[in-house]
Amino acid sequence: MKAKNTLPFVAALSALALATLAATRPASAAVNVVTTTPELAAIAREVGGGLVSIQSLAKPDQDYHKIEARPSDVVKVARADVFVKLGMDLDQWADALIGSARNARVASGGAGYVDASRLIRKKEVQQHSISGASGDIHPAGNPHYWLDPENGKVIAYEILLALRNVDGKNARTYDANYQKFSAAVDEHMAKYRQQMAPFKNKPVVAYHEEWVYFMDRFGLNSFGFLEAKPGLPPSAAHVSTLISRMRSAGVKAVIVPSIYPTRYPNFVAQSVGGRVAVVPYSVGVRGTKTYLDYLDAIVDGFRTALGG
Ligand SMILES: [Zn+2]
Repeated sequence: MKAKNTLPFVAALSALALATLAATRPASAAVNVVTTTPELAAIAREVGGGLVSIQSLAKPDQDYHKIEARPSDVVKVARADVFVKLGMDLDQWADALIGSARNARVASGGAGYVDASRLIRKKEVQQHSISGASGDIHPAGNPHYWLDPENGKVIAYEILLALRNVDGKNARTYDANYQKFSAAVDEHMAKYRQQMAPFKNKPVVAYHEEWVYFMDRFGLNSFGFLEAKPGLPPSAAHVSTLISRMRSAGVKAVIVPSIYPTRYPNFVAQSVGGRVAVVPYSVGVRGTKTYLDYLDAIVDGFRTALGG
């Protein structure tokens, strides 16, 4: 996936109009936080509490690899006090938006700019540069790090730093919110560890290569993927090979996030006498409202697929 360097509609928005937008926030108004994904927005809500207003550019269950930026997104970024992106190339589309919005606060290096991957211990980083022909959409490493609850705390910490930067007078409130969120994650982690303990080293088939952080955290074994390569839809030939491999190894668990079609996953599970669990792709779907709701639903999904 190549980043677009220019957005065709930007010519229509004059620099002056954007500069005016950026300057219109009254001192008393909520801090305006814009994130690329709903999970980042959910975590920002925990840290910001009632002092921030938050919008995610990607809607729940929009494939984050395939977002098309809209003119209204430029306006949102132009008005933002804090901008949070995942980084690691997954939301590269955001970089063109930042370039177009001409808002120094949230440009790289600005007080309100957050690349939430900064402190993440990155996995599956490619040693060699990958040509587009390989079909690999994650050359900068696997960017699905928010699926490890421990990384949720790292993301919250980055957002805390930015909120302290742009709204120092409320730093104590943000600190307290962050501590509370961090403690809630720890509490849920204790529960998850217990719930996942019976499945140590169990093999799981997933749709897309997005679970390495989650599976490493809970000691699961990634056996294979419905996609032949990240970003390529399943083919009949690939699925048939996968089924044979699963049969010989006795693999039964199939995990599918809610944005993907279930036709092939169901077929695979039926063929091997296994179980499919559909888990939320985004916070905001399948009854989830918070980051921890979302993790709860994912852990439940894995337990169901693994026969717990
Ligand atoms: Zn991906």
